[in-house]
Amino acid sequence: MTTATGEPGMTDISEPATDVARMYERTTALVEVIWGPNLHFGYWTGPDDDTGKDLAQERLTDMMVERVPLGPGQRLLDLGCGVGHPALRFARRTGAGVVGVTIAPGQVRAATAAARAAGLHDRVAFELADAAALPFPDDGFDGAWALESMPHMSDRGAVLREAARVLRPGSTLALTDVARCGPLSERQQRDLRERMLITAPPRSELAELLDAAGFDVLEVLDITRSTLRTTELTRQALEAGAVELSGRYGAETVEHMARVLDVYDDAVRTGMEYLLVTARLRPAAGGAS
Ligand code: SAH
Repeated sequence: MTTATGEPGMTDISEPATDVARMYERTTALVEVIWGPNLHFGYWTGPDDDTGKDLAQERLTDMMVERVPLGPGQRLLDLGCGVGHPALRFARRTGAGVVGVTIAPGQVRAATAAARAAGLHDRVAFELADAAALPFPDDGFDGAWALESMPHMSDRGAVLREAARVLRPGSTLALTDVARCGPLSERQQRDLRERMLITAPPRSELAELLDAAGFDVLEVLDITRSTLRTTELTRQALEAGAVELSGRYGAETVEHMARVLDVYDDAVRTGMEYLLVTARLRPAAGGAS
C-alpha cells in the first residue's frame, strides 16, 4: 500500500488506484469542459431520442436515484463521486444526506466547493478514500451507489465487501459496470487496462462477487446501446475544440482522451457491455467481511 499524496486525513491508496487517481488528476478539468460536471455517460431512449448530452447524463443519474430509495434522515455512500454532481442531485431529489469518496484530491476539493455553492454542505460531504478500504464504521449507511467507478476498481470483490460492511442490512446498492459478453482480444483487454485503466470481467463474475459479498441481485439492465452516443458526441466535441483544448490542457491529454473513446467503441463492437445493476444486502450478511 502506498499513499498517493501525503495530504492530511488521507487513507492508504493501493498501487493500481494510485494510477487511476493520477489519471483523474490529469484529465478531470478537460473531461469537465467536454462532459460537464457529470463524469459519466448519457442515456438515450433510442435512435430518435435527440436529447442533449447534459440532460441525457442527468437521466442516467436519475435512473440510479430511482433505484436507491432513501429519504430525509438517511445517508447514501457514493463510491467514486467525481466532482460531486450526481451526489448533489441525489441529495436534492431525495432529501437524504450523501458521503462521497474519490481517490483524486482535486475532485474532493471541487465537489466540496460545489456542495457549498449549492447550499447542501450540511448534508453532503466528500472525502479522499479508496473504495476498497473505506474509513467508515460498520452499518453506517442506508444505501450506496457506484456510478461509472466500478470499472476502475482493481479488486471489485474488496469494494463490494467494504460496501456490505458499511451498509445496514437490507440496504440497496446500485452500480454501473462494464462486462465482457463476447470475445475481447488480448489487445483489446490490454488497451482497456492500459489506456482507460479499466477491466471488463465476464458478466457472471460481477454476480458472483455480489453474492459472495452478501448481496442479492435485483436487476441487471444492459444499457450499452442507450449510452453509446456519448462517445460519438464526445469525439465531436474534442475534434471541434482540438486546438483550443490542446492549448489549455496539453495535446497529450487531448490525444489520450481521443484514444480512450476509440478503445471503448472498439471493445463494445466485439463484446463489451455497459450494465446497470441493482442489488440488496441480505439481512444476515450485514457486517460480513
Ligand atoms: N460517479 C461520478 C464520477 C465517475 S468517474 C460521476 O458520475 O460524475 C470515476 C470516479 O471513480 C472518479 O471520481 C474516480 O476518482 C473514482 N475512483 C476510481 N477508483 C476509485 C477507488 N479505488 N476508490 C474511490 N474512488 C475511485
